Amino acid sequence: MISEKQVHKHGFVKLLEVMGSDEEVENAARISYGTGTRKVSQTRNLIRYLMRHQHTSPFEMCEVKFHLKLPIFVMRQIVRHRTANINEYSGRYSIMSDEFYLPAEKDVHEQSKQNNQGRGTELDEDNKQLVLGRMYDVNEHAKGCYRQISQPNDLDGFYEGFKGIARELARVILPVSNYTECIWKIDLNNFFKFCNLRMDSHTQQETRDYAEAMYELVEPKFSICCEAFEDYMFNSVTFSQKEMKIIKDNLNGSWVMSKYGLSERESKEFLEKLKGVE
Ligand SMILES: Cc1cc2nc3c(=O)[nH]c(=O)nc-3n(C[C@H](O)[C@H](O)[C@H](O)COP(=O)(O)OP(=O)(O)OC[C@H]3O[C@@H](n4cnc5c(N)ncnc54)[C@H](O)[C@@H]3O)c2cc1C
Repeated sequence: MISEKQVHKHGFVKLLEVMGSDEEVENAARISYGTGTRKVSQTRNLIRYLMRHQHTSPFEMCEVKFHLKLPIFVMRQIVRHRTANINEYSGRYSIMSDEFYLPAEKDVHEQSKQNNQGRGTELDEDNKQLVLGRMYDVNEHAKGCYRQISQPNDLDGFYEGFKGIARELARVILPVSNYTECIWKIDLNNFFKFCNLRMDSHTQQETRDYAEAMYELVEPKFSICCEAFEDYMFNSVTFSQKEMKIIKDNLNGSWVMSKYGLSERESKEFLEKLKGVE
């Protein structure tokens, strides 16, 4: 059954198909080790081991396929993930959507002073209405002009004798808030890489909304893989050599590993990592 989530007023993500499962990841991994060369461990332990050690190819044996409806500016960010297979709606062949993205009031913020690629504090009510009004006007104007130049016959002879121009040319006047659609398929390993970048707080809010909706649909299908992704990728951080030295110098030996929920093996691996720091 197709599962679906609405994103903003006009967009959606639909999970069309899923190939594989947590068990399939395990089955694929087992071929690496052969009979008798590795102890039988439970699916969860093995998947967590694979994720922790970036043994990623077993995750590539699974795939997820989505139907996305999204503004062009979000599509431009999602399209950068080169390992996905994409087929997008054709603005040469078909009439473009007459829907446009308009941010919710709570999302209208000024330019961040700390982060050149981010948002700062929320605008006051008057300025917010001014900005949203301008955005709405531009969307409506573009929508009207697009219809006039591409489908004049629908407008009761708005221009006498004018037959309209090719759709591929008419679309150039549409803003990036216009909606497009695509089918988007990716393997589970690269889906996690995508989510790791696009659910992060540094990603633009609108794109993050899509990545989070997609992840929420995938999570129930691969709950063990997703748990490992959250633990070892998404909620983990990388320390530089100097930062590691600080940690090592401040580790006074009184830490109780069990308190942090690490398995015996993970505790050993953690201490081994620190031992190597010079
Ligand atoms: C917060 C943020 C800001 C960004 N800002 C900008 C910006 O200002 N301008 C801009 O142009 N882009 C920007 N990007 C896009 C970014 O540079 C990447 O292109 C995008 O995130 C895709 O990342 P990726 O290459 O890891 O992913 P994918 O293309 O999905 O690739 C997944 C993984 O596959 C491997 N891979 C894929 N293709 C190849 C290849 N040809 N050779 C070797 N390995 C490959 C890599 O290991 C890669 O990590 C931004 C991204 C983020 C998250």
